Amino acid sequence: MSILASTLLLISVYIGEHFLLVGLYGRKSSLQRLIRPNASAKADLPFVLLYEVGFRWLGHWPKLICGPGILYLGVGWALGWLEFAGPAQSILPTDPWLLAIPVLLALDFPLYVTHVAMHRVPFLWRFHAVHHAATEMTIANGSRVALAEYFFGELAILLFMTLIFGAVRPEIILPILIVRNAIDMLQHSDLPWHFGPGGYVVASPGFHRMHHSSRPEDRNANYANIFAIWDHLFGTVAPRYRSAPLSASDCPLGLNDPASAAHYNRIVGPLLCTLPADFLEAWCQGGGKHSRATSPFLSQ
Ligand SMILES: [Zn+2]
Ligand SMILES: [Zn+2]
Repeated sequence: MSILASTLLLISVYIGEHFLLVGLYGRKSSLQRLIRPNASAKADLPFVLLYEVGFRWLGHWPKLICGPGILYLGVGWALGWLEFAGPAQSILPTDPWLLAIPVLLALDFPLYVTHVAMHRVPFLWRFHAVHHAATEMTIANGSRVALAEYFFGELAILLFMTLIFGAVRPEIILPILIVRNAIDMLQHSDLPWHFGPGGYVVASPGFHRMHHSSRPEDRNANYANIFAIWDHLFGTVAPRYRSAPLSASDCPLGLNDPASAAHYNRIVGPLLCTLPADFLEAWCQGGGKHSRATSPFLSQ
């Protein structure tokens, strides 16, 4: 998709969300939040520039600025040469619409696993916290992801899918990634949608909103990226969401520690979270140079 087409599509998504939220629900839209941004929405913008503009114009080089990026490209290159046929490849349907289902599931499961790890391993939480520092839901929140997290997730997908299906051709992945991005944007809008019974299958905006709650018991749950079935299967649905899903629309968002929130809502967020120095800093934090009580990086 050309840059012009994807930009026009993005603009129409924002306009559509605006009319839905303001017209139907009387809630603030992403456009309104980004036009008059508070600290949280301001911190979203550099991430949008990095991922939506930087990556498109600059190609692969930003990926090389951190170790996992090199690994990502290296594994991708090796897989292209090895042409490994995974055990499930022979039973994959040939119809592209049917093929999309197992591919989507295989893409989503490693994301669920890495997301759980991001919350439970303090070293990884340090990177993921930048996503949770947002105090407002906007479509742009989906881009608010540390480069390191982006690579952990992509690497997990690449390895898992290769083990199952063998080397996956990019032309299969591309439409799937477009679907994934569309769901990701929908989840980060403030639409009070729960999808009814369909919410047991696909993670709704309400389901993900509760994951952005500042209450740790809400936040350390509802990990689904696309399919909520993983959370239902592994018992990681927030208890409050089970009993009162509509409460997700009003729960306070962000981190429970103001010092951490201020740290991660700085405009230099992408710089804080993408450079190799960040790994070193996170390593030092994890290694106990700062106590848990004083470190903003370990607050969960
Ligand atoms: Zn999370
Ligand atoms: Zn999110």
